[in-house]
Amino acid sequence: MAESIDSPPGGVERRGSGGWDSVLAGEAHEVSPGNEWRSELWRVAVTQFNRAADLLDLNPDARARLLEPRRAIVANFPIRRDSGEIESFTGYRVQHTSALGPTKGGVRYAPGVSLGECAALALWMSLKCALLGLPFGGAKGGVRCDPNRLSAAEMERITRRFASELVPVIGPDQDIPAPDMATGEREMSWFMDTYSQHVGHPTPGIVTGKPLVLGGTEGRKAATGLGATICAEAMMDRLGIGVPSARIAIQGFGNVGGTIAKEMFDRGARVVAICDVTGGIVNPDGIDVDAALGWIAENRFLRGFPGGTATSAGGMLETPCEVLVPAALECQITAENAGRIDCRLLVEAANGPTTPEADAILAARGIPIVPDLLANAGGVTVSYFEWAQDQQRYSWDANEVGSRLRGHLEAAIERIALAAERYGVGWREAGQAVAIARVAEAARLRSVYP
Ligand code: NAD
Repeated sequence: MAESIDSPPGGVERRGSGGWDSVLAGEAHEVSPGNEWRSELWRVAVTQFNRAADLLDLNPDARARLLEPRRAIVANFPIRRDSGEIESFTGYRVQHTSALGPTKGGVRYAPGVSLGECAALALWMSLKCALLGLPFGGAKGGVRCDPNRLSAAEMERITRRFASELVPVIGPDQDIPAPDMATGEREMSWFMDTYSQHVGHPTPGIVTGKPLVLGGTEGRKAATGLGATICAEAMMDRLGIGVPSARIAIQGFGNVGGTIAKEMFDRGARVVAICDVTGGIVNPDGIDVDAALGWIAENRFLRGFPGGTATSAGGMLETPCEVLVPAALECQITAENAGRIDCRLLVEAANGPTTPEADAILAARGIPIVPDLLANAGGVTVSYFEWAQDQQRYSWDANEVGSRLRGHLEAAIERIALAAERYGVGWREAGQAVAIARVAEAARLRSVYP
């Protein structure tokens, strides 16, 4: 999650001599458009956006409006550690655009969370919702912390305090958080309870990804991984790669990566490499995914799992396979390692795992990509179903959720494939073009207030 402020998007430079001395001396500091969000991930997002916007010949006003998130909150707040010490944390929430509806997006807990990272992820959420035809704009948030070093009680205090800070800008018709890295049903329950205490009545629709008993939906936990599997199968079919004979390598063995591994394993594919934050396991004969999931349930991390040879989290990306699935962090496939990736298809279950420089190398090598916008959209699609059920106070059964998820994804795959053919580009640019056109049209029709 490296953050670079060396190369701001659009070549915009911060003026003034910088540093606290000049600030205290009252020197003028000019902040140019886009500077607030400067980060490596924002650079990736803006580069991708501009490539697709060029295809559409998008006018400069629409471009400028969509390249500045509508609103952002930075909250610095203290919590009491189990030791009794007070420690301050920083949390963010970026709401990209509400042109299509209330904003929607995950909350992550990770050491590299920043305003710029949340801005990039919020922009992608807007485009993902637009591609899938969901009535939401994009948002993203998180707290900068190392969740592996926090107790459950500390996680609860962070979640509740962060939720309190966000109360003025979130709501079931305003902005609806969801799980992301290191957050799940447990954190969503605390979040929902905190918001409900503030407003004085139970409000299940404030978050998605809740447990069933609190107004969650069937199928939400597995939705992102299942969606990625459905999208991978669709592209594998087009490339003539049979699932039962395919070797799959997956970086990340959490909610998303673990589900993809299990879905692929159950379909007869050979999962030849997996990894988590403690490192990777490679086994050309195939890893017993059930055993690996059992190991994680008992030991929390993959380290020590005896089902293969140990390797590094970065090294496992170069495992020979038919399908490589980054399902952990952003910016994992770069100009440095893209030439050594040894797969026939890349399926981006994580958000932003491939840099634009790596995109160019993979394109030249003829390796197609199922982009994150589509590959991990199963999560927000079932989140939409959860929100719709909460609004209606009426629950759907698992079959209904499953068949509607498949229907939404198949329609989006069709839209992407058609646009790819029309513009003669890969699925990333095609998906972004479809999505940008939709958001820009909504913004145009709503015009400018006041
Ligand atoms: P998670 O916290 O459940 O799992 C993350 C996995 O990545 C864990 O196995 C963790 O050990 C591993 N990991 C963390 N740091 C790593 C490192 N430095 N090297 C290798 N592995 C590392 O998170 P998740 O919900 O599975 O999310 C994974 C990705 O999917 C993220 O990019 C997230 O934004 C994206 N995503 C998640 C959802 C969802 O519904 N949870 C929806 C859309 C997109």
